[in-house]
Amino acid sequence: MSGKIPVGILGATGTVGQRFIQLLEGHPWFEVTWLAASDRSAGKTYAEATKWRLNTPRPKNIAEMPVSPAIPEGAPKLVFAALDSTAANELEPLFAGAGCAVVSNSSSFRMVADVPLIIPEVNGDHLKLLQTQKWFKKGGFIVTNPNCSTIGLVMALAPLHLKFGVEKVFVTTMQAVSGAGYPGVASLDILGNVIPHISGEEEKMETESRKLLGVMNGNGVTPAEILIGAHCNRVAVEDGHMESVSIKLRRPALPEEIISAWNEFTGLPQKLRLPNAPEQPVVYEPAQDRPQPRLDIHRGAGMATVVGRLRPCTLFDWKFTVLSHNTIRGAAGAALLNGELLKVLGYIH
Ligand code: NAP
Repeated sequence: MSGKIPVGILGATGTVGQRFIQLLEGHPWFEVTWLAASDRSAGKTYAEATKWRLNTPRPKNIAEMPVSPAIPEGAPKLVFAALDSTAANELEPLFAGAGCAVVSNSSSFRMVADVPLIIPEVNGDHLKLLQTQKWFKKGGFIVTNPNCSTIGLVMALAPLHLKFGVEKVFVTTMQAVSGAGYPGVASLDILGNVIPHISGEEEKMETESRKLLGVMNGNGVTPAEILIGAHCNRVAVEDGHMESVSIKLRRPALPEEIISAWNEFTGLPQKLRLPNAPEQPVVYEPAQDRPQPRLDIHRGAGMATVVGRLRPCTLFDWKFTVLSHNTIRGAAGAALLNGELLKVLGYIH
């Protein structure tokens, strides 16, 4: 026995599921003991069920593990979930009802009033909502991380909202193909092309950001009063969502104050030294032509948000560019950081 906390992965065979396997290899606190996916994969070994697509070798012990059916019997108490939202709608409450802590990536329950939507650096205090969930007394609950394009935006907005107040946001995204899962968008649709529609994405950015930047109010969250308009595009980049952002602030700020707010921003994961916490969660990159997905996506092992090109905006106050790794900080890494925070705060035993 390793003495580590056993964890399971629901949807272990997909794009985000594979990232979970990669990020959990050698984790100091957690050990993967259970994998599950759809009926297409159940009963096979992980190697048989998965087309491994990451650039590190598939861990040997995982390759031989059986893929279980997606039912709570036999699952450990802590389950990281990377399910299609249709499957998550049904399965996540089933696992929570069976006493599992479900740390979810899917959009299914993010906006439900008693479900915490968490970025640990920004709103770890919203975890108090867990105590209001009907499964909580038996040890079960659902906690979520935001959509992959929302997380980069909110990481960049949070330090400015704290210091100056953010009033309005206009954001245009250029989102990587890995954000659509595997096999995702057909190559003939995306090569040499831009697709100006990602189903539900603009609404997610506009609503999730306000919940994340909102404040705890009794047993609920009062969303931040920020007007957000989002345009979302899929582009032919493998990993890394870029965003062009314009903002209007409530109080005036000098450019050097904005850059310091980003570079000096830290939160609970840094204070608690969580294993997957980036040392500097928001990094300002001063070069004129940065950030770029190819050059900057691995900052902080894919957990840092890189911001650049701060300049005055003729419509609002300021405009800038944001880059965030969509399957690490935007998905598996985000959930893992949530799991680490839950453990340190005593929600997982
Ligand atoms: P994906 O590559 O399509 O993987 C989906 C996973 O769900 C697979 O393991 C699949 O198993 C499993 N699954 C599908 N239907 C199931 C069912 N009825 N019962 C049990 N398992 C089922 O998708 P993904 O990109 O990893 O995304 C997973 C979730 O994370 C989605 O909700 C997505 O919106 C969210 N997310 C993705 C990203 C990203 O950048 N990709 C970022 C943030 C959030 P089989 O292999 O057996 O079919």
